[in-house]
Amino acid sequence: MTQPVLPKNLKAIREQRVFEIEWPNAPLTRIGFRDLRLLCPCAGCVDEFTGERIVNPAMVPEDVAPSAMKYSGNYALKITWSDNHDTGIYSWEYLARLPLEQLEPLKK
Ligand SMILES: [Zn+2]
Repeated sequence: MTQPVLPKNLKAIREQRVFEIEWPNAPLTRIGFRDLRLLCPCAGCVDEFTGERIVNPAMVPEDVAPSAMKYSGNYALKITWSDNHDTGIYSWEYLARLPLEQLEPLKK
């Protein structure tokens, strides 16, 4: 077992509607609030048996945003979304594995 990679820094930037995640030894990455909401890994969003994504994007508001975030142990982030969806627990491992095309390095 390797140690899970912990983000060095994570913040929600409401003006730009993105999360900014900084990993050790990696470029800063960002992902849009709504993209992350649609990637919710909970059993209500992904079929546990087939892995099929069952969240309906039409049901997720364009302006969805996190209304609360808290750490779940030291391995994950639990996000309550403004559409009242609060079962999503995003592990660091999951966040680190998100498809690269959804993560853009911040241009300074
Ligand atoms: Zn979910």
